[in-house]
Amino acid sequence: MYYVKWFSGKVWETAGNPTFPPSVRFPVTNHIPPILRLAATVLGGTLIAAPATAQGGSSDPSPVTIEYLANEGVLISHGPSAVLIDALMGDGLPGYPVVTGATRDSLERALGRFGSVDLVLVTHVHRDHFNARSVARHLRHNPSAIVAGAAQLSDSLADLAGWDDAARRLVVPATPGGRSETRIGAVGLEAHGIPHPPSRNQPVDHVVWVVKIGGIRLMHIGDSSPSSAELAAAAGDGVDVLLAPFWVLGGDRGVERMAATRASRVAAFHFGHDAGPFRGPAGVVVLRSPGQRFEVEPASR
Ligand SMILES: [Zn+2]
Repeated sequence: MYYVKWFSGKVWETAGNPTFPPSVRFPVTNHIPPILRLAATVLGGTLIAAPATAQGGSSDPSPVTIEYLANEGVLISHGPSAVLIDALMGDGLPGYPVVTGATRDSLERALGRFGSVDLVLVTHVHRDHFNARSVARHLRHNPSAIVAGAAQLSDSLADLAGWDDAARRLVVPATPGGRSETRIGAVGLEAHGIPHPPSRNQPVDHVVWVVKIGGIRLMHIGDSSPSSAELAAAAGDGVDVLLAPFWVLGGDRGVERMAATRASRVAAFHFGHDAGPFRGPAGVVVLRSPGQRFEVEPASR
């Protein structure tokens, strides 16, 4: 349902090479400047990241705001910092929500609250999560922002004519079980390689993000369907907020998965236009209306 239709159109928005063979597996690019290159370990090693551009402890006690944009697109804001995840998706995928034309324009031109975005994170390059032209347009209008994702993301941006700023592309390994971390300004980042469910056409690199901002830890699991054990490993000491597709949160396994992350706030998203009412655990925030937002206070952990 959610991972079959994506290939019906062009995934790789490659203006310079529109017939780029989608079956090619991309190596990690080696033209990323060392400051942005992450060290990676697979299956349990210690991963120490590239130096941060600044060490930003947050002493600002104000809550972190999570705003739902569309599908799995969110804006996470705290003080002068903001992070976009899976929000720049162009026309998206038929059957799944996209932002209004006005919001899309503001997003891509980094206007208003979108001008505070420091980081554009992408879980994977499927059309309902990512569009190279939309990301490139945002980056052009927001020269201080960095985009982060697996090598497929970086390569599709590099292939896009007119946008070739490698220093602004942070490549993280998406090897299943792999983990990397870094800090960019006031935002700490962990990337966990957790696969997308099997896709009919092509394996897609998939990253689960843990964002540390304003004293909270927020996990966005993209389209993955992790086991409780995988979630517990990625959550480490626990997260405050879990954002997950609704199908991951249903049934007994949903409760188990939520518990594995120790999240105190859980939100469900990725509702297609034909999705029925959410039948998941009570207390889950249902994100279906663009513009919905909720706030999270730093926990005293
Ligand atoms: Zn999706």
